[in-house]
Amino acid sequence: MINQNLINKRIMVVGGAGFLGSHLCESLLRRGNEVLCIDNYFTGRHKNIAHLQSNENFEVMRHDVTFPLYVEIDEIFNLACPASPVHYQFDPVQTIKTSVVGAINMLGLAKRTRAKVLQASTSEVYGDPSVHPQPESYRGNVNPLGPRACYDEGKRCAETLFFDYHRQHKTRIKVVRIFNTYGPRMQPGDGRVISNFIMQALQGEDITLYGDGSQTRSFCYVDDLICGMMRMMETPDEVIGPINIGNPHEVTVRDLAEQVIALTGSRSRIVTCPLPQDDPLQRCPDITQARRVLNWQPSVPLKEGLMRTIEYFDCLLSKGSVKAAQ
Ligand code: NAD
Ligand code: UDP
Ligand code: UDP
Repeated sequence: MINQNLINKRIMVVGGAGFLGSHLCESLLRRGNEVLCIDNYFTGRHKNIAHLQSNENFEVMRHDVTFPLYVEIDEIFNLACPASPVHYQFDPVQTIKTSVVGAINMLGLAKRTRAKVLQASTSEVYGDPSVHPQPESYRGNVNPLGPRACYDEGKRCAETLFFDYHRQHKTRIKVVRIFNTYGPRMQPGDGRVISNFIMQALQGEDITLYGDGSQTRSFCYVDDLICGMMRMMETPDEVIGPINIGNPHEVTVRDLAEQVIALTGSRSRIVTCPLPQDDPLQRCPDITQARRVLNWQPSVPLKEGLMRTIEYFDCLLSKGSVKAAQ
């Protein structure tokens, strides 16, 4: 049954033309909300949201969140920030400005309008964790000077700003810490492990395993993630987080490579390459809080999600639209 309180709301999705943002816009529109998508198209793409343009409840604005923005809305999902290491290390200063100045502007807007604001934080706030799996109470192990710091420390500072605005100005905040997420509309050239392995396998190229492949990650399918984020926004004002959202099924990167080869029926070989600096050894969310507070847990198994993602990339390749997508 449709909850009438959830519709007729004006919701802003910042970073709405990106991978997660475009899925979120789609789900909010399906629920009957008015959606304002804000993006500067750094890593976002028009084609991610092209199918939504004919919806009269959908509006798009090109804007960089490091500049102030004056609009009237009820809720803000702040997803603006490049998320793959290749993208966020391309212009590290802009990455940290996007996280920090972007958060200040979104919080200023939420403070003025009394809108609820949700921050898409990340498992990267835990750095290379020494506690496993990672509960929200773990304070992390981050190198503030390394090549990942522009992202990790930017996101940590954004969380601090969210909590300070909440304490100082009673701003209505929600913070979720997102773990590795994958699915259709990931960019084939974003350098992330799932997009790299699938593209390499489908094209019969070598699979580039960084290090010995014993490092672990836990991959959440995009639909599950969006559902968790939307549930978080609907919680009462006293629920502010941070809450981990991710899939606790942990795999080694080597195991992932082997699964992708098997599912694509590829003849690609696995070759090893140097492990990037500060690459976390283990990552797996403790989702006890998400289960308890949001009544949420992921439902799409890795094999199923990989098959859907392989189908997406296969389709891009057969249309010859890969270069355009990169
Ligand atoms: P993405 O790169 O596809 O999307 C980010 C979007 O933000 C893009 O559309 C980009 O153009 C936009 N953007 C970047 N800088 C901007 C700026 N200054 N002003 C306006 N728009 C800007 O990445 P994604 O995977 O969709 O990630 C979305 C959010 O979720 C990010 O904040 C990311 O940190 C967070 N997150 C993602 C993952 C994941 O596995 N995908 C994991 C943890 C956290
Ligand atoms: N801001 C914005 N939109 C608004 C309100 C504020 O972009 O609707 C920006 C504003 O430019 C400011 C920032 O958010 O730089 C923080 O706002 P806040 O009110 O906390 O700070 P102040 O305006 O007092 O510096
Ligand atoms: N990785 C890999 N081969 C690749 C791309 C990534 O082995 O072609 C590894 C990477 O070193 C890391 C893991 O896969 O250990 C996940 O990398 P990704 O960039 O997707 O995400 P993050 O490191 O931010 O979790």
